[in-house]
Amino acid sequence: MKAEIVTVGTEILTGQILNTNAQFLSEKMAEIGVDIYFQTAVGDNKDRLLEVLAIASKRSDLVILCGGLGPTEDDLTKQTLASFLGRDLIFDKEARDKLDRFFASRPQGSRTTNNERQAQLIEGSRPIQNITGLAVGGLVESGGVSYVVLPGPPSELIPMVNQQLLPMLTATQTRLYSRVLRFFGIGESQLVTVLANFISEQTDPTIAPYAKIGEVTLRLSTKALGLIEANQKLDKLEKAILDTPTMDSIPLRQFFYGYGEDNSLSREVVQLLKQKKKKLTAAESLTAGLFQSTLANYAGISEFFSGGFVTYSMLEKSRMLNIPLSDLQANGVVSHYTAREMAEKARLLTESDIGISLTGVAGPDSLEGHEAGTVFIGISTEEKTDSIQIAIGGRTRSDIRYIATLHAFNLVRKTLLKS
Ligand code: ATP
Ligand code: MG
Repeated sequence: MKAEIVTVGTEILTGQILNTNAQFLSEKMAEIGVDIYFQTAVGDNKDRLLEVLAIASKRSDLVILCGGLGPTEDDLTKQTLASFLGRDLIFDKEARDKLDRFFASRPQGSRTTNNERQAQLIEGSRPIQNITGLAVGGLVESGGVSYVVLPGPPSELIPMVNQQLLPMLTATQTRLYSRVLRFFGIGESQLVTVLANFISEQTDPTIAPYAKIGEVTLRLSTKALGLIEANQKLDKLEKAILDTPTMDSIPLRQFFYGYGEDNSLSREVVQLLKQKKKKLTAAESLTAGLFQSTLANYAGISEFFSGGFVTYSMLEKSRMLNIPLSDLQANGVVSHYTAREMAEKARLLTESDIGISLTGVAGPDSLEGHEAGTVFIGISTEEKTDSIQIAIGGRTRSDIRYIATLHAFNLVRKTLLKS
C-alpha cells in the first residue's frame, strides 16, 4: 500500500512550528508496514490544498491529512476534501453531543457555526473520535483511495492515531469490507456472462451484481483483518475484473466509471468540473431540463454552471440558440447537425467551456421517421464540436429521458478526463 502524509498549516511553512506530526505518522506507519512515499506540507489555502489532493489521489492508496480541523476561518481541510470528493459534510452524533456538553457550561452565544463544523464528517466517513479535543476526525474511501483527516494539535492527534487509526488499519478481528464498482454502457447480463468464472468460483472476496436503470454495479466484499489486508484483496480482484474483455473484446475498464454506493455519473462530472475548474452548460430538447436539474442537486454548482436552455420546439431551438430555422428544417431536429449546433451555440452564448445538448425521440410515437429512443447528443468545447447517436430500446418515455441524461453525463465525463 502506497501512502502519503499531507500536513496542512501555514505555521509549518513559515517555520513557526516543527512538523512533528509528519514524523510521528511516518514512524507509526512504518511500524505497521505501510510505506510512506511522500510528505507534503501545504498552507491554509483551499486552491493549493486542492492541487495537492489532485496529485495525491493519483499516486497513493492512503492519504493522511492533518491540521486545519479547528473552528477558525483558516481551518479548511475537511471542507476542501469534501469539495474535492464532491461530497457533503454531515454531523457526527457523538461529536455533536460532545460539543453540546462542552458549550452547556459556557456563556450563551459563544457557540458559532464554525464550532458546529468541528462535529462534521465527510459523508460516508468512519469517525475517529477526538477524546482530548472537539474536532472529530475520519476515514473515508473514494475512488479506491482512503483519506484520513486528523486535527493538528499533537495532544489530539497522537491518541487518535494510537487508539483508533492504527486498529482500523490493522485490526485483529476480521470484519467485512466492501467496495462498489460502477459501470455504464454495458448491460447486467453481459457483465455477469463475461465474469461467470469469477462469480462461480467466488468464496472470498465475493461479487454481487446489481442492475439499476441504465447502469450496473458490482459489490466486492471480503472478510479481512483491517483496511490494508482488505485493500490488497479487493485491489487484486478489481484489477482482474477490469482487465476482463467483453464479448466484443473491449476491456471492462472502458465501462467502469467510479466507485461507491452513492456515486453517480453526475457526481463524477461535478467532481471533475471542480478539479479542472471548467464551466458547463446544456441545451435540452427531449429531456427538457432534466440534465440541468440534476446538476443543480449539487451544492456549489453555480461556480461551474451559470445557466442553459430548454428548447423543446424547432422554433425555440432557432430563436433561443440562434440556429437558422431553414437549416433546422433541412436537417431535422433529430440529427447530428442539430445536436452539434445546440451544443456549440449554448456554449458560446453562456461563455462556458463545455456545451452539451440532447435532442431525440422520447416516445412513445416516432418523430421525423426516427424510432422512440433515438437520441443525438452534441458536445462542444473550444477545440471541437462533435455528436453521438444512441438508441435506447424498449423503454418507457421517462426511462428514455433519464438514460439519455446518463449518456450525456458520460460524454461530459470522458471529455473532462481528456482535458
Ligand atoms: P485547532 O482546533 O487547534 O485550530 P486544527 O486541527 O485546526 O486545530 P491547526 O490549526 O492546523 O490544527 O494547528 C493547531 C496547532 O496544532 C498548531 O498551532 C500547532 O501547535 C499544532 N500543529 C499543527 N500541525 C502540526 C504539525 N504538523 N506538527 C506539529 N504540530 C502541529
Ligand atoms: Mg486551527
